[in-house]
Amino acid sequence: MQKDQLLTRRRALVAGAAALGAAGAAGVLATGTGDRAARPAVPATGAQAARRPLKPSAYRLQPLTGYGPPGTVAGRTPVRGAPLLRLSGRGRIMVLTFDDGPDPRYTPDILDTLARYEVRAMFFVCGEMAAGNRDLLVRMADEGHVVGNHTWSHPLLTRLGRGRIRSEMERTSDVVETACGERPEWFRAPYGAWNRAAFQLGAELGMEPLAWTVDTLDWTTPGTRTIVDRVTDGAAPGVVVLSHDAGGDRSQSVRALRAYLPELLDSGYRITVPRRQYA
Ligand SMILES: [Zn+2]
Repeated sequence: MQKDQLLTRRRALVAGAAALGAAGAAGVLATGTGDRAARPAVPATGAQAARRPLKPSAYRLQPLTGYGPPGTVAGRTPVRGAPLLRLSGRGRIMVLTFDDGPDPRYTPDILDTLARYEVRAMFFVCGEMAAGNRDLLVRMADEGHVVGNHTWSHPLLTRLGRGRIRSEMERTSDVVETACGERPEWFRAPYGAWNRAAFQLGAELGMEPLAWTVDTLDWTTPGTRTIVDRVTDGAAPGVVVLSHDAGGDRSQSVRALRAYLPELLDSGYRITVPRRQYA
């Protein structure tokens, strides 16, 4: 157990859900190159756009995320043209994220493991899951984790109109606020499928778009060992890991965390949550 993580956790417990930005939170997030693509059959527009040289042809192929007009500022949240993919800054820092929950079959086990090692993580929750499991949202916030918004019903946003996207985001933020006392400051598009409306509406609702660097593809239930290997092989400073605590049988994801979390800590990584940076 690392001393700074213990301290971080104590501070987080004191500060509760307001712990974002507290000492111990990781440095600045920046867009970068994704190590892996998003789920098959869904355009990983952000990662692909970032990986390509910025040529006019690439721009035309990726009009929604690569190169938008200059970002405008809505309140204190900028409208981005691509999601954040990794942490920038110094140090062996990584972020673990769990999507689609909460699910009472798996989320408590994940929370138990995170608590055992005194680390904080991010949970991108779906409103329709969160509404019936508010106790789990309360526990996430109480234990210093960051609760992000992953829409209400996990739709492909690129097929929805603006009004529906707004409603998917807003209702979910309402549920999180009711349970945790604060609205989410982070948003993640289902399937990693972003569009301009998602960036604009997310910013209007005070949320930064966060994607991921390493996709465990745990939702394909490839086996616990494969999930562990994907995390440890992909481990590097600034990496954001995507896993799931709901949406199907996630027992492999639960078991994998028990194995890779101590491995990462033994390798000298600090597992933490990002700090919002305000322009
Ligand atoms: Zn999802």
